[in-house]
Amino acid sequence: MKRFLRWIASVLCAVLCLLAYAQNQTTTGGGVGEPISLSSSPVQMIDYNKGLEPAACDDDYRTTYEIFVSSFCDSDGDGIGDLNGVRQKLDYICDLGFDQIWLTPVHPSATYHKYDVDDYCAIDPSFGTMEDYEALLQDCHERGVRVLLDLVLNHTSDTHPWFVAATDYLRALPDDQEPVFEDCPYVWYYTFSREPYDGFVPLEGTSWYYEARFWSEMPDLNLGNDVVRDEIASIVRFWLEKGVDGFRLDAVTSYVTGNPEANVEFLRFLKDTCTSAKPDCYLVGEAWTDRPTIATLYTSGIDSLFDFPFADSEGVIRQVMNGGYAASDYVKAMVSAEEAYGAANPSYVDAPFYTNHDTARSAGFYPQDDGPATKMAYALSLFMPGDSFVYYGEELGMKGSGKDENKRAPMYWSDDASAPGMCAAPEGMDDVQMKFPSLEAQMTDDLSLWRWFGEVVRVRKAFPAIARGTTEAVDAVSDEGVAAFVRRYADGEDVLVVMNLRDQAAQKDLSAVAGNLRLAAVLNTSEEAIAFENNALSLPAYSIAVLTFDAQG
Ligand code: CA
Repeated sequence: MKRFLRWIASVLCAVLCLLAYAQNQTTTGGGVGEPISLSSSPVQMIDYNKGLEPAACDDDYRTTYEIFVSSFCDSDGDGIGDLNGVRQKLDYICDLGFDQIWLTPVHPSATYHKYDVDDYCAIDPSFGTMEDYEALLQDCHERGVRVLLDLVLNHTSDTHPWFVAATDYLRALPDDQEPVFEDCPYVWYYTFSREPYDGFVPLEGTSWYYEARFWSEMPDLNLGNDVVRDEIASIVRFWLEKGVDGFRLDAVTSYVTGNPEANVEFLRFLKDTCTSAKPDCYLVGEAWTDRPTIATLYTSGIDSLFDFPFADSEGVIRQVMNGGYAASDYVKAMVSAEEAYGAANPSYVDAPFYTNHDTARSAGFYPQDDGPATKMAYALSLFMPGDSFVYYGEELGMKGSGKDENKRAPMYWSDDASAPGMCAAPEGMDDVQMKFPSLEAQMTDDLSLWRWFGEVVRVRKAFPAIARGTTEAVDAVSDEGVAAFVRRYADGEDVLVVMNLRDQAAQKDLSAVAGNLRLAAVLNTSEEAIAFENNALSLPAYSIAVLTFDAQG
């Protein structure tokens, strides 16, 4: 009798497995490469999305990893992250699906962050050599990964030879004499005045003041001056000739403080200078400001600007996840952004991000959350169209807020501070307690944040519409907790995205959406499965379904 029951059980199991296999064959979307494994992970997304392959990408719609160089990976044991460390982690970066990296400044500088440059055409020795940088470029390009150089043009360091020459000259100049351009053109590289204007600081040992908006040790460059522009043009050409793919432009709203028209004009100069040296050079600017100002800056023709209104602790994403905004407001905000930016520059590429080296890390935004809300928040950012940026360590839910050093904690490769690659904490960093485990531990957990990130990026890249399409709200499906939108891109490639952003399951009737819908990818934060049958979509708490429109009949 026992043997008979076992036989019945094994026959039943075989039939169920066959059914499950057939089901997967009909519901799994996008270039299915290999048969679905029947070893069945308890997490639906791991099996379900397995066949998804990234669509070919040679445009600007990338998924970009921001690396704070000194805290990422130390290759030589001095505690400082470096270029060879980045090279060692390229497989890690590519396995997560990133196809572009932005390194924070690599130029010689006395600070750990290096946003005060001493020499724009060299590499800081603590990060490596120019040969290391060239090797990094080559390694990246072999993998199809583009490299963005962080270009800090608003100011130099006060130890930059230009500023030293200018200030030495002014200190030696008799008080009753005016500087002469031919004697020291470097005076015109900055803005000196005998008046203490707003944003100016005194030049010690003289009666002069100089513009330094951020810090007395970061004098502002006089970007309206042609001698400075000639220098910038040669710097840009120097790096483009090395093979750099583009630039991340620091502090563009401060180029000419409080003068958006002048900033537009300077950005246009930069864009023209870059494209004349390399037609596909990509530029993304940091304009920490509101949507109308960002839209104005897009009239310069710059490719991308970081989409600050969605980011940080007060942005759309956090507001949606903590209930301050409805889920449907996320869709509305995307539609408004696309209208505003598209009107300013029809070929713009949005640059969504959630956090960066200047903001608090997102794991601290949801103190009660043990993972799902943190995961969904990042998916909101990665499901926005454009070139999506992710700050290193966010894929692990690293923590860090308060003083800047805390936001730049050593990449949490391992719990063991002496493990290979681990960096020392930036000087002055508080004792930051991590909330989620290290990479080592997360790699063994099918429901870890790290695993989630890889799956979200996999889905983003498998459907070109997600990064490249135009958002169309689906009001019949969206509500307080569910965001639904169609991303229109090309015939047969549009996708419907439905996201349950709350901790309760949601049932949604999709019959209001015209077309022959097929469940193509799933993102779960739990072992509860997403189901789709007869236009009825069941979404467990904190989950996402991506549906495609199949040809009728
Ligand atoms: Ca090092």
